[in-house]
Amino acid sequence: MKIIKKVAQLQKEITKLKKAGKTIGFTPTMGALHKGHVTLAKQMVKENDIGIVSIFVNPTQFNEASDLKNYPRTLKNDAALLEKAKVHIVFAPSNEEVYPKGLKTTLKLDLKGLDKRMEGQFRKGHFAGVCQVVKRLLDITTPDSLYMGQKDFQQFTIIDQMIAALKIPTRLVVCDIVREKSGLAMSSRNSRLTGDHKKRATIIYETLQWIKKNKNRYSLSDLKQKALDKMSIPGFKPEYVSIVNGNTLKNIRKMGAHDYVVVCTAVWAGEVRLIDNIILKK
Ligand code: AMP
Repeated sequence: MKIIKKVAQLQKEITKLKKAGKTIGFTPTMGALHKGHVTLAKQMVKENDIGIVSIFVNPTQFNEASDLKNYPRTLKNDAALLEKAKVHIVFAPSNEEVYPKGLKTTLKLDLKGLDKRMEGQFRKGHFAGVCQVVKRLLDITTPDSLYMGQKDFQQFTIIDQMIAALKIPTRLVVCDIVREKSGLAMSSRNSRLTGDHKKRATIIYETLQWIKKNKNRYSLSDLKQKALDKMSIPGFKPEYVSIVNGNTLKNIRKMGAHDYVVVCTAVWAGEVRLIDNIILKK
């Protein structure tokens, strides 16, 4: 496995691989890797000749300076996990490599309002930063396939829209959410939870499952309110519970009128903001 820090070196490597007819898979991450990331990486390696994982804590997608500062950085451990997963190349660039002076990387994109809902309401500028970094990384790596997790449902939906809008010749592959035995969705931010909060954060998945079980029993507004109540335990503060059309991410009024429905939530567990979702119908 090669660890590459410079764009020019990575591009040279990729040009060589493409000339040799190799297919390329790419998984962007912000590091502090866990089993969820490793599962994505393994699927990528299985489905492509060459698997590339990037590790870059992208400053432009953080809406809070403290979140950026406290984001865990564990490159040595990450590299060991990726080597075990048989990843070929780890790309770990500096801010200057990703955003060199003089290169315009901001985008004007029609995201059809996908970026305005849910996370967009609470994390201003987050998706502009996500699109900016993913577009830049796709320009650098020019992969055949891009691997992302369902864990960030709104994120992959927006990237799917960006790929279509910019006619980027890359296929998006979305992988299932990997969870702890307790049901808690794996997240790099889980390492910042206190032991007690980590135990009690299982309320999030339990509540999402409760919604799925009771989706035809209550009105949607009752379901959402009951879910907010369930997750309002001491130290926890749910920000939203949204039941949306999986394509448009618009709140739905009636379950029966849609083929693809997902429930998404964001919850503060102490100082740590956790997101999760489950598909109610597809
Ligand atoms: P991040 O490093 O948090 O930006 O995540 C990098 C990629 O891993 C994104 O596509 C995430 O959706 C995905 N990912 C994060 N957590 C999980 C998980 N628990 N299961 C599967 N994929 C995940």
